[in-house]
Amino acid sequence: MAVLLDGKKVAQELKERIKSDVAQLKDRAGKAPVLACLSVGQNAASSVYIKSQGKVAEELGVEYRLGTLKEGISQEDLVAEICNLNTDPGVHGIIIQTPLPGGMNLDEVVGTIAPKKDAEGMHPENLGKLLLGQNRIAPCTAQACMELLHHYKIKLRGKEVVIVGHSEIVGKPLSLLILKEFATTTVCHIATSEAHKLEDHVARAEVLIVAVGRAHLIKGAWVKEGAVVVDVGINRVGDKIIGDVEFESAEKKAAYITPVPGGVGPLTVAMLMKNVVTLSTETLK
Ligand code: NAD
Repeated sequence: MAVLLDGKKVAQELKERIKSDVAQLKDRAGKAPVLACLSVGQNAASSVYIKSQGKVAEELGVEYRLGTLKEGISQEDLVAEICNLNTDPGVHGIIIQTPLPGGMNLDEVVGTIAPKKDAEGMHPENLGKLLLGQNRIAPCTAQACMELLHHYKIKLRGKEVVIVGHSEIVGKPLSLLILKEFATTTVCHIATSEAHKLEDHVARAEVLIVAVGRAHLIKGAWVKEGAVVVDVGINRVGDKIIGDVEFESAEKKAAYITPVPGGVGPLTVAMLMKNVVTLSTETLK
């Protein structure tokens, strides 16, 4: 039976470290780090994230300022709100809640956040720094996967690491973080499946990280004996949340595996706060 990569436990420890960094910042500067969140209209998915961000921020001593903008706002007016936050010296991090209403271009919107306040690490300048290994922050979910691997002292150097999913927020930045640790890194995506090659790549993965969003896409039978399996996927099936990996069959072959829920998820919001604290250290000297 595989060892569970316990995201809840790792997140708790990470939050303790962030809490102590925030307390030190407050002692030094007399102010707390401030994360401003802009949300457009009402959306069930974003309300869940907003609630969880607010709760974790409070727990850690980070000030969370929520700005809810009306549903019909234009992209131009949203950008004007971002510009106000960019120039507000009392704000250290900015996050734009997604999804944005149809017709808005998320890349354009995120591109207007000042890079030094980009709490999610998704501004092109910050992604460029990530590519060059000059980054201080990185996209939250990608960092969450790394935190889990580091906590369990999973060695990456020289390992065959296979990432399934090449999105901008997870797979691509994660591939750079993994590569930085000198793993042999393969990134699979929809076209890998179309070419009927996914199973072959998965079967040789010593470390397998899956971020697709398709319930049980990865069959336990494909997983290499002794592999480390990190399942980022979140899929609602009936009243249950399940991952992209067939957990029950995969855990019989893997050495380590994340549960879903309770794997990467709990670490992601903590990573957002870690980014905000990192960004605020410049201003709150
Ligand atoms: P996305 O839709 O942006 O990207 C999906 C990726 O999967 C793409 O690279 C696509 O090519 C690939 N893909 C699609 N079908 C495939 C197939 N049949 N075979 C192989 N590859 C295939 O998704 P995303 O935003 O990166 O999210 C992926 C999953 O991770 C979702 O379930 C999402 O809910 C979850 N997620 C979890 C967290 C967390 O905190 N745990 C954070 C972000 C995303």
